[in-house]
Amino acid sequence: MWMDKSPNVNMFLPTKDSLTAATVELKAVNEKALALHSLPRSPVKKTKELKSDSINEKTYALRNRQRNLNSKRDEKCEVLAEKVSGIRHSQRVLVMKQEQKSHPTALQVPAPHPQEYFMEENAGKVCLIYDKRMLKHIPPRKHVEKPERIAAIYRKLQAENLLERCVVYESECARLKYVLHVHKDKYFRSILSERETKDDKGDMYFGENSLDAILLAAGGAIKACKKVITGEHANAFAIVRPPGHHAKKAMGGGFCYFNNIAVGAKYLMEKHGTKKVLILDWDVHFCDGTEDIFRESADVLVISMHRLGLFPDLDGNHFRRFAYSGNIGKGAGTGYNCNLCWSDSKVGNDDLYAVFDYIVMPLIQDFEPEIILISAGFDAAKGDLLGDCWVTHVGYATVLHKLLKLKIGLVLILEGGYNLEVLGECCASCVRVLSGDYTVVDDREEYFPLASTWDAILQLRASLSCYWESLKPDIPEDVLAWKQPNPNHAKIPNPDHAKIPD
Ligand SMILES: [Zn+2]
Repeated sequence: MWMDKSPNVNMFLPTKDSLTAATVELKAVNEKALALHSLPRSPVKKTKELKSDSINEKTYALRNRQRNLNSKRDEKCEVLAEKVSGIRHSQRVLVMKQEQKSHPTALQVPAPHPQEYFMEENAGKVCLIYDKRMLKHIPPRKHVEKPERIAAIYRKLQAENLLERCVVYESECARLKYVLHVHKDKYFRSILSERETKDDKGDMYFGENSLDAILLAAGGAIKACKKVITGEHANAFAIVRPPGHHAKKAMGGGFCYFNNIAVGAKYLMEKHGTKKVLILDWDVHFCDGTEDIFRESADVLVISMHRLGLFPDLDGNHFRRFAYSGNIGKGAGTGYNCNLCWSDSKVGNDDLYAVFDYIVMPLIQDFEPEIILISAGFDAAKGDLLGDCWVTHVGYATVLHKLLKLKIGLVLILEGGYNLEVLGECCASCVRVLSGDYTVVDDREEYFPLASTWDAILQLRASLSCYWESLKPDIPEDVLAWKQPNPNHAKIPNPDHAKIPD
């Protein structure tokens, strides 16, 4: 018979008593755990925390003290700065009084310059670079780019007592390393060797002293840039020749050997760490050299306004490739090359004002340059031998005044301009404005550019608006309505009341 040998299951089942005992035991364990959890932390740890609290308090107290000291120091600094400012102001007043005593004509100097905050030593005087040695670059035969150009400017400034508002500096030969930052070594050497050959290439001639003048012109640009970037002068005008804006990295042309303005810009970037340079070229000719040098650079914004059909468009293709509004730079420099092409001759002051108000000023606002260098050619002036345009000295003075109001250092570097009388008058008006005399500035609020000028402005804004926010908004219709359709059938008389030589 099979017998069930399995153990009695009941013997493993908890009895009522055993359950009660287990519950009591569990409760006790839980209570112990709770008691352990709520035990005070170890005395060592508590000491550490106390020490840490004490250190924190001390640190906090020290920091508070430091803050108080800093605050007192700042207050003292402010008081000292005010005192220094007061002393400097008194010094300036004394200097001006002494100048007025020794030079009675200095009394004619008009109201204080708006950029007075720049002034330390030279109390608002314009830095003028002029050097007779540049007169010795003499053409082999009759030539528009002749020594008399800069001599005529200097004589005009002298005749109008404008030199008294300037500090005139002689130039210095450019240091070769700055020229070599702009030009290729081979081209640079070819210019040096031309000194021996004295070759006449038509638009680039070499006389006995030409190389000196070439180096002095580039050095003049450097000196003018130095005087402004260091704050010694608020602005500068380098009356230099030969001009420079047609000189490319590896080729000269158009009376230009080294690109003076480019050498100045490179000097600023290399020597003074300037990050943003604006080059504004208002010469009537396209600055093919400057464009070539900075085509791929985002550090230098180049704005050129030039008339179609002039040099360097000798083969008929140059403008289509480089000088038109669609050429906006390359690589990193895309958007940093701006070309405004005048398609009509006879562009005048009103055209210049429109380009400034709707291209130049918005771009400056966006780019925020540290310094503005101007390729100041005056061959778009009425009466010039090459430009066939109608801008007057009033026009140049007016746009210069627009720039001056921005309170950014300005450096003008002479480029073209071939009617001696007109050139002298335009430069004199520019120096007048730079010195704070705005009597020649045109203050009309409305102006009437050519229809073709508005077309050129709209075209350039369309090319650049994806790079510059300031060029995105539409120009109001009522502004675009200000125009004269044809320069030869102008219904609106030229509002410029300036005396224009025939
Ligand atoms: Zn020119």
